[in-house]
Parts: sequence; C-alpha cells; structure tokens
Amino acid sequence: MLRLDSDVMYVKGVGPRRSELLKSRGIRTVEDLLLHVPRTYQDRANFIRLDSLKAGQEAAVQAKVYRSRVIQTRTRGKILDVILTDGTSFIHAKWFHGGYLQQNRVFSAGKPLVLFGRVDFDSYESTFVLFNPEFEVIDDSDSLSSLDIGRIVPIYEEAGGITTRQFRRIVSSALNQLEDVIDDPLPEDIREANGFPDLKTSLHRIHFPENSDDLDKLNHRDSPYHHRFIFEEFFLLELAFALRRYQARSVKGVRFQTRDRIRDQVKRILPFHPTNAQKRVLKEIVDDLRAPYPMNRLLQGDVGSGKTIVAFETIVVAVENGYQAALMAPTEILAEQHYLNAKRILGPLAYTIGVMRGGTRKAEKEQLAQKIASGETQVVIGTHALIEEKTQFNKLGLVIVDEQHRFGVVQRLQLISKGENPNTLVMTATPIPRTLAMTIYGDLDLSVIDEMPPGRTPIRTSHATDRDVDRVYATIRAELELGRQCYVVYPLIEESEKIDLRSATEGFKKLSEVFSGRRLALLHGRLKSVEKESIMRAFSTGEIDILVSTTVIEVGVDVANATVMLIEHAERFGIAQLHQLRGRVGRGGHQSLCILMTPYGINDVARQRIKALVSSTDGFKLAEVDLQIRGPGEMAGTRQSGLPEFRTANLFTDSHLLSLAQKEADRWASRTEEREHLIQRLSSRAGGRNPIGLVTVG
Ligand code: ADP
Ligand code: MG
Repeated sequence: MLRLDSDVMYVKGVGPRRSELLKSRGIRTVEDLLLHVPRTYQDRANFIRLDSLKAGQEAAVQAKVYRSRVIQTRTRGKILDVILTDGTSFIHAKWFHGGYLQQNRVFSAGKPLVLFGRVDFDSYESTFVLFNPEFEVIDDSDSLSSLDIGRIVPIYEEAGGITTRQFRRIVSSALNQLEDVIDDPLPEDIREANGFPDLKTSLHRIHFPENSDDLDKLNHRDSPYHHRFIFEEFFLLELAFALRRYQARSVKGVRFQTRDRIRDQVKRILPFHPTNAQKRVLKEIVDDLRAPYPMNRLLQGDVGSGKTIVAFETIVVAVENGYQAALMAPTEILAEQHYLNAKRILGPLAYTIGVMRGGTRKAEKEQLAQKIASGETQVVIGTHALIEEKTQFNKLGLVIVDEQHRFGVVQRLQLISKGENPNTLVMTATPIPRTLAMTIYGDLDLSVIDEMPPGRTPIRTSHATDRDVDRVYATIRAELELGRQCYVVYPLIEESEKIDLRSATEGFKKLSEVFSGRRLALLHGRLKSVEKESIMRAFSTGEIDILVSTTVIEVGVDVANATVMLIEHAERFGIAQLHQLRGRVGRGGHQSLCILMTPYGINDVARQRIKALVSSTDGFKLAEVDLQIRGPGEMAGTRQSGLPEFRTANLFTDSHLLSLAQKEADRWASRTEEREHLIQRLSSRAGGRNPIGLVTVG
C-alpha cells in the first residue's frame, strides 16, 4: 500500500530510472504524480467503423496499416501518408513533416494502431483523411488494455521522456496501490456545500473518468474533479490571507475618534463635492479608523478617480486625533506635488507640513528630522527617503503609501514599523483585476473608487505613425493656440547603443525648432530635485507650453490645462504604463487627446496593446486585456510581488472559484480550533509549493 507522500519510486512500473526522470520534472511523490492531471481527454468509448465515418466528426478508430509512403509536395514539404484498414473500409492518415515516423518504421504494414482525430473528406481523392491525428501503436494485442480503449482516455503532457501511454499505466498502478482510506484535506462541510467530490473519487475520476462523465467539461477543466483541485489550491491561499486579516483585527491599534468637530474639519478641506464612490470609500476607511484594530486597507481607483482627496481627508482625521501622518510617494515629482497639494488643501487647518526627499540638503533634513521626532511636524510627505533616513516619529498614527505598485511590500512595512501598529492606507492606480488583487494584496481589505469625478470628457486616443507626423504637430499647434498645454513623452533619456530610439534630449531639440516661439522644457530623472520642482511648478502655472519628458511624469502629476499628450515609441510601453501616462491629460473639463506614435510597422502584440488603448479608457477593462495578452505572472507591477504558482488553478479562467474560496476562507478564519488543523493539512498537501511562503506579506 502506498500513501500520498510515498516516494514515486515505489509505484509499480516506475523504478529507479524513471523515478529519476520524474523527479527531474518535480514529480517526487505519489501525490505529485496524481496531481499531474491529464492535458486532455479523448472519447474512445466507441471505435467508429471506417465505413461509417462522417466528415467533421472527432473519431477514434482502430485499424491496421495497409501501406505507407512519403509524398514530396511543392509547397508543404514532405507528407507521410499512411493508408489504414479495419476490414470495412480504408482511411488515410497524413502527417506533415512526418518523415521521421517513416524512418523509425512506426508504420510497417500490418501494424495495429489506434488513431484519434478530426475526420476530413478529401474530395480530390474521394477518401476520408485524418490530418496529424493522435495515435498509439498497439505493439501486441495484450498491451491493448482497458486503459487505452473502451473509455474516456486521459492524454498527458509528456514529462521526463515518459509517454502518455506509460503515464496511463503508472498512474493507474499508483491509484491501485493507494491505501484505502486517504485523508481529505477539504472539510466535508465545504465539499457538501459546493458539490465537490471527495479526494479519492476525484483522483480516480480526473485520470480515468467514467463514461457517464461529461467529456466536454473534462476538456475545459470544468468537471467537478477539476473544480475540487482548483478550489483546494485557492482555498489554502485565501485561508492564509483570511487568517492574517483576522489576526490583524485582534492586534490593538491606534483608535481614532470622529466627533462632529473632526467631521467639520474634514469638510472644511473639500474643494468640491465628493463623488458617491469617494464618500463610500471614506466611510469604509473611517470605520476602520474607529475600530480598535489597525487599518490595513488597499484603496484602488483608476487614474484620475480622485484618490488624493480621500487621502487628505484621512490625514485630517489622524491629525485631529493628535497623531502624525506620513504620506509616501514613489517619485520626487509626485512627492513634491503632494506637498504642494497638502499646503493648499490643508491650508485652512494650519497644520505643520514637512517634505522629505532624496535631494534635500543635509542641514535642512536634520532640522526636519528633529521636528518630526518632537511631533511638531504633523504631516510628513516624502519619497522612500522617509524610510531610508533615520526618521523617528513622535506619534505616527497613519501611514499612506501612494502608487503602491511602484514600491515593494518591504518598503510599506518599513514605514509602518516607524509607528506602533499605525493605520495603513495603500493606494494604487494599477487597475488590477479583482482576482489578481485578491492574491497579491490578499492581506489587505479592499476599497474601490469606481466612478470618475463629474464633468470629465473622456480622452480621445489615436494611433499615429511616423508618416503622420505633420498632422500630429498641427493638432498640437491647434491646442496650444487655444491656450492649452502639451506633454511629449519619450521612453529613454539618451540614445542607447543598441536600440535606435529618439531620446528625449534629441526630441527636445527637434521640437524646439518645430515649435519655435513656444516655451518648452525638458524633464527627466537625472535632473536635480530643485530643477525638477521648478520645471513642474512652471508647467502647472502655465509658464511652459510643451513639457518634453521621460516617463518620470508617469504617476500622479496633475495639471488640468494640459490637454494633449504625445507618446513617442508607444510600442515600447506596456498597456498599464500607457494608461498611466495617458491619465496625465483629461483632468479638466476640456476635451483631451492622447496620440500614440509608433513606427509604421509594429508587431502584433504591440498592435493589440495600442488597439486596446485606442478603444477603451477604462483601466479595469484594459487590465483584463493585459492579463489576457501577457498572463498573470507578467502583469505590470506584480512581478516583484511573488504571485504564487498553482498546479491546476488558473487565476484568469478560474476567478469564480477564487471568489468562492475567499468566501469560504473568511467563514473558516474565525473557527480557531478547526482552522489550525485545516491549515496544517492543506499546507502539507501543497508540499514545496506552499503559496503562503511565496506571498510574503504582513
Ligand atoms: P488619482 O486618483 O489619479 O490620484 P487625483 O486625486 O489626482 O486622482 O484626482 C484627479 C483630479 O480630479 C484632481 O485634479 C482632483 O482635484 C480632481 N477631483 C477629484 N475628485 C473630484 C471631485 N469629486 N469633483 C471634482 N474634481 C475632483
Ligand atoms: Mg494619485
């Protein structure tokens, strides 16, 4: 008898040599082997007689080789043409580039084969043909066991040189040798509520389904057995997060009051009526602030949805409660912008506000550090200098991290550690699809601003190539004549040796000639902080018409009078980045334009990205497209967050099971005793792939 954790070596038919091969592919235990689930399934319950085939059907046939030959074609290279018969009729099987099969004498006359594929009718030769069918040679009729025919048959991904037929045998032995009672890590209550079969049944049927099982569902990973394993993987992850959220609530944090006077102060700073979405998320935040546990909240909202004012409202609550608040931004420009906004918006409340940046002079920094340590400075805004410097806070009660996708989790935690369980608000404009957010930021509670401030005219986006350059310049000129301003963005600062990109510097020179008489400035990351600041200030007060820039303006910059953005070499940017960049325009009531400029010929993926941006301004929709084009591991800003790898589950296609897992996990997080046991069992099943270890948060 084998256990799930027995070495795969002890499975009948494996032995030392194959076990080495399997282990090199990560299949170490019986469990690993059984969780190597079939790639597809074929219905071989009934072989179809050759005289009753129909064109277009997917058919399994059993026949012997009659004759085979290689045909040399002019356009398609060599084709191996095998004629087969089962005594009732004949059929051709053709393999393109199949010469190697012929050489290996796979198809000598009289050989019995099982073939599976789509039946085509070749009207030219008036015969049925299977093009590139799946096939198995039946060496001697004894080996044609019930594993390969007369049922729904599993087809495996080859691993370690082990063929699909060999896999069938090994897996079948493993199932037969498995001890009678195996521990199912999924609680019965969850299985029953969701119609998941138990572990033993699932293992058997996912490999060797019964004829009553739905073939189509099996092939779409949509069978109850697949659901069960997918759910299990998500459930473990979500349980870990739910537990963390649950435990975070038992930590004693800074508790804020929101008496009427404080509410009035919050209202005093509002320059406009908040949208319903802004009101809703503020309420979610305030509920956390008043609770005895520290807030751990992610505020998600598309570019321009108005997260900043919500942050400032939260800051007011903290300061009115006698605590300090820190706001960390990923770039100097954004920190500067937040600082200017803070002075303006918080002006009526006369708080002491400080800004901490990389470029700040030493003496100034020390002075500020002292004021922060004494508590005199109530609101501190800064870049990561906030965490790098030996900044000591007097009474830090609120930490806000803007554009979290630019920071790592570690930096967030470093800032948090400067207070005693301060309330934390993390803001991000990366419109992460909900399923991804649930796995990346699973330890945070989620608030979403899903509504734009009123009076916005959606940005018009167009694609232009180098050939349209005159028309593009004319468009810009027309906007400037209306008194508006323009951004021109380049992907790199200087000419790279390898890639022939027009750099911002070079572009700046050219544009200065094209738009002579206009005021232009060049902004890039290598300028000193003071230079950057003065350029940004001049642009926001309208003293500069055209701001030529690298992507340093990607986040946060807010100048309502800028209505045109020209992005050069747009094919070099990802969807998320283009969307962020584009979000710099369309911030006032005027119609804004975004022009995506590329060379005349670009590749398909780039074209897909550009098309997506031209047709949608909805960041969440774009994120879904991005996820589809690139796959979850590649999503912008998520790479460093260590997304867990799943065996069976897929974040994109299985999102309904992910939501289900989260719901169930929330329910289980509070059941202290059962929960410990559950986590233990689930993690030991996940073996080396334990996703809790991969997502290092909190
Ligand atoms: P983001 O969510 O990208 O950080 P911001 O907070 O910078 O967006 O807001 C974008 C712009 O919209 C700012 O100019 C801001 O003043 C304005 N804004 C935000 N909320 C409202 C509102 N409720 N009504 C009108 N304008 C708003
Ligand atoms: Mg912002």
